[in-house]
Amino acid sequence: MQHTDHIMTAPALDVAKIRQEFPILQTQVFGVPLVYLDNGATTQKPQIVIDTLDKYYSGYNSNVHRGVHQLSQQATEAYEQSRKTVADYINAAHSHEIIFTKGTTDSINLVASCFGRAVIRKGDTVIISAMEHHSNIVPWQMVCEEKGATLKVIPINELGELQMDAFTAMLDDTVKIVAVTYVSNTMGTVNPVKDIITLAHARNIPVLLDVAQAIQHISIDVQELQPDFLAFSGHKIYGPTGIGVLYGTSEWLNKLPPYQGGGDMIKTVTFAKTIYNELPYKFEAGTPNIAGAIGLGAAISFLQETGLDKIQQWEEQLMTYALSSLREIDGLRLIGDAAHRSGAISFLVHNIHPYDMGELLDKQGIAVRTGHHCTEPLMDLFKIPGTVRASLSFYNTLEEIDKLVAGIKKASAMLL
Ligand code: PLP
Repeated sequence: MQHTDHIMTAPALDVAKIRQEFPILQTQVFGVPLVYLDNGATTQKPQIVIDTLDKYYSGYNSNVHRGVHQLSQQATEAYEQSRKTVADYINAAHSHEIIFTKGTTDSINLVASCFGRAVIRKGDTVIISAMEHHSNIVPWQMVCEEKGATLKVIPINELGELQMDAFTAMLDDTVKIVAVTYVSNTMGTVNPVKDIITLAHARNIPVLLDVAQAIQHISIDVQELQPDFLAFSGHKIYGPTGIGVLYGTSEWLNKLPPYQGGGDMIKTVTFAKTIYNELPYKFEAGTPNIAGAIGLGAAISFLQETGLDKIQQWEEQLMTYALSSLREIDGLRLIGDAAHRSGAISFLVHNIHPYDMGELLDKQGIAVRTGHHCTEPLMDLFKIPGTVRASLSFYNTLEEIDKLVAGIKKASAMLL
């Protein structure tokens, strides 16, 4: 199928214009224009984010919260403005509920460590799901091992959807927290997180949402959704690497002990006793990633100006087109085929190893990811070593999907 055969509503976005904002999308790989379909791993950066980093380092590089001098005040202002931008983006009630971290992994480790120390005891249960990224498995395993608690896993069906009946049955008085992903990074499944939160809250169980693969695709209003914690990475939402966000309700963040000790997280220190700082600084020990936070603010403002509703609409069209085109390829098997999905599409073709397919696509300028995508237990469930994963962004085009399809066919012909 060619995209011109496909009747679609006109895109709400001027995709060609948007692509001009991303310098890397103008580059060539092996002499052909880059087709970047590895957005689940990391997204490309718009010029405004690159310029914002440059302006910080060349114009007002300074430490935050520490100096009375002009540059430090300017850096502090920009850093705190970014916190407000993040708060506004997810509609947090207070900007002090936004903690800057290194990324999703760091945010989840923070919660697992602090919540683990404060709340989890021997005999307790932590619930995760079968489609979690290692980042939302291992920190909880570590806590459970340390505390003598049990890790339970919400099962999925063959389409890669959570089995909600099983989840409901798992909720008993031993459960202390539910930690699940909003969108599967491997299959693109969008989970019914509102239902999960409602069911857990009915038993006073807090919920952590890993929104690493949702925050760039789906509008999230924390006051409406009511997660207790939310974790995401800057680099997957068009911002820099090394910066991430933990959102937590004031209630929980005030209740938990600090994560790391050091500068900024203290109010006063004596050798006898330290009084911890208020939120959000209590959880931001040491010099933070100032440039990263400011760059993340620029990325989010860029998305807000573009319009997440328009982005979502275009990405849905891309996903529909990609799925219908891929389904037509002889021998292609989708891994996970949920009714509600976003971002990622995983597949295998005949018995071709995903690495071989990935390599031949790469030679055609098409960047996809191959392997287990940090979801080894999920691969074990499907009894496969890995998948080829194409993951979409709003800067992708229907022509690029056509190139992916042609590329898969060409690679298959060479490998079979
Ligand atoms: N959770 C999910 C669902 C992810 O997709 C990823 C990254 O791929 C992570 C967590 C970890 O993100 P990071 O490596 O940026 O900390």
